[in-house]
Amino acid sequence: MSKAALLDSLNVPQREAVSAPPQSVLVLAGAGSGKTRVLVHRIAWLLQVEGISPLSVLAVTFTNKAAAEMRGRIHDLLGMPVGGLWVGTFHGLAHRLLRLHWREANLPQTFQILDSEDQIRLIKRILKSLDLDETRWPPRQIANFINARKDEGARAKHLDSRGDEAQEQLIRIYRQYEEQCQRSGVVDFAELLLRSLELLRDNAELQAHYRRRFRHILVDEFQDTNALQYAWLRLIAGEENPVFAVGDDDQSIYGWRGAKIENIQNFTRDFASAIIRLEQNYRSTGNILQAANALIDHNRKRLGKQLWTASGEGEPIDLYSAFNELDEARYIAGRIKQWVDHGNRREEVAILYRSNAQSRVFETTFNEQRIPYRVYGGLRFFERAEIKDALAYLRLVTNSADDASFERIVNHPPRGIGERTVDTLRQQARTERRSMWEVTVDALQSGEFTARANTALAGFVRLIKQMAEEIHGLPLAEQVDAIIALATLREHYLSKEKGEAGQARVDNLNELVSAAHSYLQVRDDNAPEMDPLSAFLAHAALEAGEGQGEAGEDCVQMMTLHSAKGLEFPLVFLAGLEEGLFPHQMSADEPSRLEEERRLCYVGITRAEQQLVISYAEQRQLHGQTRFSAPSRFLRELPDALINEVRPKVKTYQTSYAPSLRTAQTTTAKPKIGSQTESGYTIGQRVSHAKFGEGVIIDAEGSGSQARVEVNFKAAGRKWLVLAYANLQRL
Ligand code: ATP
Ligand code: MG
Repeated sequence: MSKAALLDSLNVPQREAVSAPPQSVLVLAGAGSGKTRVLVHRIAWLLQVEGISPLSVLAVTFTNKAAAEMRGRIHDLLGMPVGGLWVGTFHGLAHRLLRLHWREANLPQTFQILDSEDQIRLIKRILKSLDLDETRWPPRQIANFINARKDEGARAKHLDSRGDEAQEQLIRIYRQYEEQCQRSGVVDFAELLLRSLELLRDNAELQAHYRRRFRHILVDEFQDTNALQYAWLRLIAGEENPVFAVGDDDQSIYGWRGAKIENIQNFTRDFASAIIRLEQNYRSTGNILQAANALIDHNRKRLGKQLWTASGEGEPIDLYSAFNELDEARYIAGRIKQWVDHGNRREEVAILYRSNAQSRVFETTFNEQRIPYRVYGGLRFFERAEIKDALAYLRLVTNSADDASFERIVNHPPRGIGERTVDTLRQQARTERRSMWEVTVDALQSGEFTARANTALAGFVRLIKQMAEEIHGLPLAEQVDAIIALATLREHYLSKEKGEAGQARVDNLNELVSAAHSYLQVRDDNAPEMDPLSAFLAHAALEAGEGQGEAGEDCVQMMTLHSAKGLEFPLVFLAGLEEGLFPHQMSADEPSRLEEERRLCYVGITRAEQQLVISYAEQRQLHGQTRFSAPSRFLRELPDALINEVRPKVKTYQTSYAPSLRTAQTTTAKPKIGSQTESGYTIGQRVSHAKFGEGVIIDAEGSGSQARVEVNFKAAGRKWLVLAYANLQRL
């Protein structure tokens, strides 16, 4: 592609960014304005027009999926595949550095990645060995503490308790945790970054090498970098190398995980960069964009941007008020069928939700109605028990020091090794600072266990050694298959869980073999220096949760709002817009966190290209509880004129007035005071509710178990309540 052709499909400020001289640039712009497009074109420009070698380019994306997409787009632009380019997430790139320089990083060559679940297990073991009570020291909070310290670049030895006892204890746990990880040759997610930062910081030769190599560094979704990632960028860039960053402060949604929005401000200072703004949105219809703009306008802390579109208004935004979560899922299923009946594809449809747990009802409904779907993130294929079993075998075979894997499988499937034996091994490994595997092998020789335990342990050791021998030299997928077979995992699950449950696990194990197979096909030049099995295991840990649905099948996409960042879909459903769920309960009371929730909602709305459908349920089963929630405050922040309320429910109430959250305040056709409702209540009746206090019934609809009334509460305002549950007292 020629120079002119590369710029042809871009607007003026986009061109300016793509063809900027080699200097640091910050493209600061709203959703759908072409930031990612500009970044991809910039890479093509550097390679094609500036004649830069692909080896000199380092590009950071937010997900592995985005990295694969970016490669594809560059390939399309240049008309040929480009090898040697480093494209990946911060974690993926850091991991790659550590694999290349494991010695300098003081890691074993076969080091493994500890995912979040393994991390919790390890912390639990440490608490046990320190005789600390899990209720007082919740493992998840400790994990958060450790991860947050690492994200700030602080190791246990850097921390000072200042005499605070609890702090002292946390630091002690952190220190033990570090030692244990080091001994087992495992690194957690935050460690990947911190370790590779230290590697480059403390090793002058490597630092100089990479600074000479990566002449051009590009970062997408810059607003969500945390302090450590920012430091990592500065270190790799050094004084000379320009950084090309694109981002949107209105889409910063990882503050809770340490992302620093101030990095945007620091960037212009630290990198002396030019700022380029893009204002035209190419993704969404006018209505969708207007709704997004109106919503985000409620945030105070903004850098402030304008966004407009040349496309028409498009369809209004549909708002569906569901009775409950099942009603919501069925409505959405119906809309998807319509969409497909009109000749569209399912993969053009995304369902976005705030909380992972919301996917379950959709999954059940779609299974019933035979709608193929795929869940991104969250369902975590790689975190299912049977998959983790197989991976643990693979990991122990590649790295015998991996104690977490050892513990998971030493007696799984059961082979007569008791908890006491494992406890002894663990204790011994800890005092001798060796791996449980080494301790076991020695114990077999000295014969310190009972004959029974000894035989069982010997069987286990033999099995692992046999695995290592048999998979040697096999292609990756066959290695995975062989390990599953030797471990007798399929047989184990079929006999342990009868019927479909057991079969589902076997299906998943088979799926792991296919995953290994297709993984090898897509790997192309992503980290060629790694052996396939290590690369696959790293992939499994970094990219938990590819999805269901057959490969290549046309599937509806389901994901949390967080994982929808950067993506776009013709039809988007935003489900569960209820107070307490979205904005999330934990964030509603704190202004800065509420603003982050609002940015998340902005991200959701701006994923939609042609049609946006928003829904909420008046009653919802979630996390095993029934909740009655008011519609989300975010709904009130959307301009009325853009919203089309869908209320297909059969009304038994005689007036034609459609009660509604949004129009109740303005409508004139109010039901008459004193008129009798189907359910026996009268309009105007004073009632009291356990939670909302006193109020007056102002509307009603439905009958039987679905009868509902709208009450104007003195303190809590207007709410629709299902009579069967509300337990109203007449006053
Ligand atoms: P987000 O903030 O959501 O990550 P973004 O700013 O990265 O969005 P892109 O995904 O790059 O935006 O672009 C949004 C859509 O608009 C894409 O489909 C892209 O191809 C299209 N687009 C961007 N710029 C142009 C242009 N100049 N002409 C035509 N289409 C464009
Ligand atoms: Mg983008």
